[in-house]
Amino acid sequence: MDIVLYPDPRLRAQNAPVTTFDAELEANTRAMFALMYATAGVGLAAPQVGWNVRLMVYNPEGSTPNPPSEMVLCNPKIVWKSKEKEDGEEGCLSFPEIHGQVTRPLQIRVQAQSLTGEALEIELEGWEGRIFQHELDHLDGILFIDRMSPASKGLAKAALEDMIQIYKDQLASS
Ligand SMILES: [Zn+2]
Repeated sequence: MDIVLYPDPRLRAQNAPVTTFDAELEANTRAMFALMYATAGVGLAAPQVGWNVRLMVYNPEGSTPNPPSEMVLCNPKIVWKSKEKEDGEEGCLSFPEIHGQVTRPLQIRVQAQSLTGEALEIELEGWEGRIFQHELDHLDGILFIDRMSPASKGLAKAALEDMIQIYKDQLASS
């Protein structure tokens, strides 16, 4: 399992609902957590490992393995969001060199299914809410550069062009 980097089309592909909650699903999420910790991330969506299903893993405590704060959410959706929004700095494992400001609702209510298929409803805010919303966007083929402030996007422009060129070069040589 490897991290899929921008502009790989798998990051923009449709993601299928999770319908089978079995040992293979659990093994894949363990592999995603391992990769997330190895790359010092706080969240990872399945399409970022080339697996186009509606599943995310995250750990708001940071990049140290800590099972109580690990979250696995299948088929997540936002059922309510606050009018109040907050600006914050985000990065993304599919854009290793890029960071930028993104404005998102401060509080959200989420419905999802657990790794065993159990229905969940949770309220998230602040940092954890931001991680969730970033990962949910991945499940809809939306990337943080799509939501970045114009100033941040301007700062990232050269790095994005480099990533596109590297991707094209790799395609040409494979
Ligand atoms: Zn991301």
